[in-house]
Amino acid sequence: MRPVLIAGGGIGGLTAALALHRAGIQVRVFEGVRTIRPLGVGINLLPHSVKVLADLGMLSALAATAIETEALVYFNKLGQRIWSEPRGIAAGYDVPQFSVHRGELQFLLLQAVEARLGAGSVETGHHLAGFDSEPGGVTAVFTDRPNGAEIARVAGSLLVGADGIHSVVRRSFYPDEGPAVFSGRTLWRAVTESQPFLGGRTMVMVGHESQKFVSYPISAAEHRRGRSLTNWIAELRVGGEAPSRHDWNKEVPASVFRDSFAGWRFDWLDVPGLIDGARAIYEFPMVDRDPLPQWTFGLVTMLGDAAHPMYPIGSNGASQAILDAAALTRRIAERGVTAAALEAYEEDRRGLTGAIVLANRQNGPERVMQIAEERAPNGFAHIHEVISQAELEEIAARYKRTAGFSREQVNRG
Ligand SMILES: Cc1cc2nc3c(=O)[nH]c(=O)nc-3n(C[C@H](O)[C@H](O)[C@H](O)COP(=O)(O)OP(=O)(O)OC[C@H]3O[C@@H](n4cnc5c(N)ncnc54)[C@H](O)[C@@H]3O)c2cc1C
Repeated sequence: MRPVLIAGGGIGGLTAALALHRAGIQVRVFEGVRTIRPLGVGINLLPHSVKVLADLGMLSALAATAIETEALVYFNKLGQRIWSEPRGIAAGYDVPQFSVHRGELQFLLLQAVEARLGAGSVETGHHLAGFDSEPGGVTAVFTDRPNGAEIARVAGSLLVGADGIHSVVRRSFYPDEGPAVFSGRTLWRAVTESQPFLGGRTMVMVGHESQKFVSYPISAAEHRRGRSLTNWIAELRVGGEAPSRHDWNKEVPASVFRDSFAGWRFDWLDVPGLIDGARAIYEFPMVDRDPLPQWTFGLVTMLGDAAHPMYPIGSNGASQAILDAAALTRRIAERGVTAAALEAYEEDRRGLTGAIVLANRQNGPERVMQIAEERAPNGFAHIHEVISQAELEEIAARYKRTAGFSREQVNRG
């Protein structure tokens, strides 16, 4: 039997490799970059995705590295509390929510893949350039990205495009789709060593849809030393055209955006201090893509950002890629390495993830921040003058149901 080919050794591709391998399916991963480096800043793993990783034996490694997030708090731009809720175990889930450095998570997954599937199971420097479908299989064509030279043609039973927001697999089926859709907002992302804030396991969001600051700790090691490796994202509406370059690693100076946050010093978080303390700041336009009408074409499908890139709202980007990997594996285990399995996977996942993409365009659970800004731009004496408790609860609960991580959904598995 030919192996399943996975293009992309990011969060989704590596999780799929682990899950397929455990199901007894032969799999090979091809990653475009020559050397995988621990890139990115923080991401969150919601409990439903942690459950998948726990099933794959990754829980203790994650717990040793990541922060078990205990609470999420929304504030207005004046630092007044709008809403807070417990998260993970503190909220009664049977698994934690983790905040983790994306690069460390990718390395944990990569180490597990190499340990279980064998050295060389992830072939780096293999950029998927195209593929040919033939009866009963797919041949993937790989190039060396820096010089474009073809380096391999590999025959597989299936091809899974886990190749991220600039997916070649997606473009091959939707050649006229064009660039990702720009929200008019720009994100500046970084990590800073700082004092712990709000108990050391809290994620905060401050502001509204045109100016926001998100911050949360991501390092268990720093936490044990009484310190915090604090991930943060400053976000501003900038309008205009989408930048031509969408590169996760584009470094810029703080002067590009710092002045807008100069007055955001709260007694629980010093935003200018965090910005000034960053080692490096990365700029990324907030983009997504419209939900697709079809992911699976014969023996080729997509997962993660290739299939459904979404705004980083509600902490779902990595989580949904991991859930895709689990669903794909379940269907292949049931129906074999077949087009029918890929169609069943798509049926499970396409509608759900499309709904999250659209919910995130409406600010997802962060809608409470926008409502507070619109109804009380100068602040409030008590939040219930502005939004009722019932409305606050409904917005939080509806998003959890849409994204599949209400406590009931997760705990019953
Ligand atoms: C370098 C980098 C840094 C990131 N930093 C952050 C961050 O700080 N915060 C955040 O929220 N999200 C970040 N993301 C995105 C985040 O990882 C994803 O939104 C989410 O985890 C979904 O995972 P994914 O596997 O679908 O995509 P990704 O994690 O983006 O993985 C896609 C992988 O495919 C590889 N690839 C791309 N094209 C090809 C090709 N043609 N052939 C073979 N391989 C290919 C990429 O190099 C990458 O390793 C980052 C992504 C990357 C690639």
